[in-house]
Amino acid sequence: MDKCLFCMIANKEIPSNTVYEDDLIYVFHDIDPQAPVHVLMVPKKHISSTETVQEEDAMLVAHMMLKLKELTALLGLENGYRVVMNYGEDGLQTVPHLHMHILGKRKLTWPPG
Ligand code: 5GP
Ligand code: ZN
Repeated sequence: MDKCLFCMIANKEIPSNTVYEDDLIYVFHDIDPQAPVHVLMVPKKHISSTETVQEEDAMLVAHMMLKLKELTALLGLENGYRVVMNYGEDGLQTVPHLHMHILGKRKLTWPPG
């Protein structure tokens, strides 16, 4: 899959502000932050959304979940944070590459708009 925005960002073909990376994931600051801290965690493997995650991706998605604690500590989110994954028309997913938003450093309203 080429020409996927987040694949290109994870491959450093498009610049971004890196927070963290390893063999499986890339984490970077959102270009249009909705909170004082707003970063995106993406798998380096192209997966289009939560709807196309396969059994074979189990280790990868577990790795994303397990990295949260380390990343939120790195980002200074001891006071709390929100993780969001959007899908589809109602969920307003705009980039078709699986990504986890991590937001914090302000009181996040609930329910979201
Ligand atoms: P979605 O709406 O698909 O859940 O989230 C996509 C996110 O990607 C949005 O929050 C948007 O601001 C962010 N985004 C879109 N294009 C770029 C880009 O080129 N660079 C970065 N860093 N973030 C982007
Ligand atoms: Zn992709």
